[in-house]
Amino acid sequence: MIRVLVGSACLALVACAEPPPRHEFTELHMGMAVTIVLHAAAEPVARTAARAAFDHIAELEDVFSDYRAGSEVRQLARRAEEEPGGWIPVSAELLRVLMIAREIAEASDGAFDPTLEPLVALWRQSREAGRLADRATRDSARARVGWQFLELDAAASTVRLTRPGMHLDLGGVAKGHILGDALAVLERTGVPIAMIQAGGDIVLGHAPPGRAGWEIELGGQIETLSGTAVATSGTGEQFVEIEGVRYSHLLDPRTGLGITVSRQVTVIGPDGTLADALATAAVVLGPAAAGRTMARYPGYRLIW
Ligand code: ADP
Ligand code: MG
Repeated sequence: MIRVLVGSACLALVACAEPPPRHEFTELHMGMAVTIVLHAAAEPVARTAARAAFDHIAELEDVFSDYRAGSEVRQLARRAEEEPGGWIPVSAELLRVLMIAREIAEASDGAFDPTLEPLVALWRQSREAGRLADRATRDSARARVGWQFLELDAAASTVRLTRPGMHLDLGGVAKGHILGDALAVLERTGVPIAMIQAGGDIVLGHAPPGRAGWEIELGGQIETLSGTAVATSGTGEQFVEIEGVRYSHLLDPRTGLGITVSRQVTVIGPDGTLADALATAAVVLGPAAAGRTMARYPGYRLIW
């Protein structure tokens, strides 16, 4: 709708567009509710943009999901088994996430480790069985873990896993990447005023009309943010309790077990993929040690 305003927002007798109204859409993806909030003048534009973003999220799940047998990550593990140590071509999407995952692994002294899957599988088994795997089983899983044994050739877009039985788990980094990419889809569709939320991960585009930013509650305070990503990671929601001890779904690669202290952290910074990986790393490292890793990422801040 076009209306004529006389006032500070518009010059007298100049036609001004109404601020684009808010639209909200929710669908299930990645095993959780994903919500898109966007501002667009017309309902069909809003619908088309949200559809394109959700479709893109579904496509990326086919790359990263460990729960889908046909996903690229699972295919990669199968190829690596058939041809141990061989170079395997990967998509540009997977390569980008693996490069960031490897970088954060190095920057966190291995607290974040994208090759942790054999130990994550044991954690899931202990959740079913109600007890920890025995030491020999844990040791043999640990022998199949180590980010140093994930090698990347960015120019050729190939990767190799140099230890037998290795398998990737990108659960600590992929969601941030997927949401960041979906936000870029909205922007390309002509809808830059948008936010997407899935669980503890949020990506924010331009600020809503007439506002300084999106109001997000963090650590009991309201922050006004735009053009940034917010990733929250913590031990609170997913854990297995064995003999009175809670083992979180966030594992400490040094022990091979879920971390047993209670921690939650939010990372705020420009790139969703980095923010997600840094949040997972910070929970594993704890407040004292996480500072050293975060010092390497001045554009990112932590809230415990
Ligand atoms: P969320 O549960 O909100 O996705 P995270 O982003 O922290 O939280 O991701 C948790 C997932 O990361 C786990 O389910 C597991 O797949 C994986 N993971 C657990 N521990 C680690 C670790 N030390 N490094 C990398 N990935 C991990
Ligand atoms: Mg994470």
